[in-house]
Amino acid sequence: MTAEPAPSAVSADPIPIQAAAQVDQDRLWRRHEIMARFGARPDGGVNRQAFSDDEAHARTQLERWTSALGLQGHVDPITNLFFRLEGRRPDLAPVLVGSHIDSQPAGGRFDGIYGVLAGLEALEAIRAAGITPRRPIELVAWVNEEGSSFSPGMTGSAVFAGAEDLESALQHRNWAGETIAERIGPMLRATPLAHRRSRRVDPFAYLEAHIEQGPQLEAADVPVGIVTGIQGARWFDVEVTGEAAHAGTTPLGKRRDALSGAVRMIERLEAHFWGAGDPDMRFTVGRVEVGPGAPNTVPERVFFTIDFRHPDRKVLSAFGDAIEPICWDQRGRCAVRVVETQHSAPVTFPEAMTDRLARAAGALAIPSLTLPSGANHDAKFLAGLCPTAMLFIPCRNGVSHNPEEWAEPVHVAAGARVLTHALVDLAAA
Ligand SMILES: [Zn+2]
Repeated sequence: MTAEPAPSAVSADPIPIQAAAQVDQDRLWRRHEIMARFGARPDGGVNRQAFSDDEAHARTQLERWTSALGLQGHVDPITNLFFRLEGRRPDLAPVLVGSHIDSQPAGGRFDGIYGVLAGLEALEAIRAAGITPRRPIELVAWVNEEGSSFSPGMTGSAVFAGAEDLESALQHRNWAGETIAERIGPMLRATPLAHRRSRRVDPFAYLEAHIEQGPQLEAADVPVGIVTGIQGARWFDVEVTGEAAHAGTTPLGKRRDALSGAVRMIERLEAHFWGAGDPDMRFTVGRVEVGPGAPNTVPERVFFTIDFRHPDRKVLSAFGDAIEPICWDQRGRCAVRVVETQHSAPVTFPEAMTDRLARAAGALAIPSLTLPSGANHDAKFLAGLCPTAMLFIPCRNGVSHNPEEWAEPVHVAAGARVLTHALVDLAAA
């Protein structure tokens, strides 16, 4: 980053409102329907895997729309895609806006692609309002956010932010044994008008719109959520070891039952985590394996996993650190081993950015509320690079990563309007 002013100046002029008024709900909705054809599933959902031909075709479509709008495309070495609306000061750091195009195998029509299409709609609206922003604005589509074929995910934003090395990312393999490096050629050919960009253009700020993937906005009947940050996560493997014995002959006092031990641990852990009465608490035992797994043998070994998430660093630390002592307390006559397999710190978006989104919603008379993000997003890596913020729109029943995923057209447009306002405001800074 250069020594430019922080994006916090208040803009009271009517220009961002004029731009937001140009958001065209029908055009934006139609584009969701067109994008849903790339990787369409028979059940109405979408299976658009990262680096697949389906994603390449969606990128070609995006290039058609952006080139009709006069935006120049750029593609970086991991094939993140950027489309630039030039500013009056092309030398200034651009404001970035976007999300991802790839989906889960049983995915829906909104996760990821909404943020790309809402960003595109914002640029359409800015053009239609006859505005040339001071700073350039770049629409971005990050590659492999989902990580469902090439695991782990968020590859594009991680490499862009310098959190992952390009060379190692290119060697990630999918289930078929193909590397990302082998898929770069087809991705480049999908956007023939885009220029190669070998050096990162440092962003001034980043905005991302997304469906909530949770139930809060729908329950509150509020069209826009302003995201305070992305919660942290700690994952643990727990292994309980007892002794195998005959189920018919071994009395209670002689047993070292690993499953009984594990059940006590899980009950105690759940009481500790859920008993805190904290609405942001998330604690899940998602996998339990019992060995040897015979109906007539006392279990010798139990393996279970813990997924614990919370937006507050202190809670993440205190409750996460309590897991091992609780397991140890409840082990009875068994042995227990607790291994932390993943620790990802929470991200808090700067108030100057969340305030800007709140002011945008207020100026447009669109109701909003603040909430943390339960899921990970590319914004997490961008937050380490530049002032970052996200906005959410409701999704039906809070469902995502599912062909049933659904957002209402009026909410899709409301989110794009707030995004447009905030973008115009930021690009004037
Ligand atoms: Zn997503």
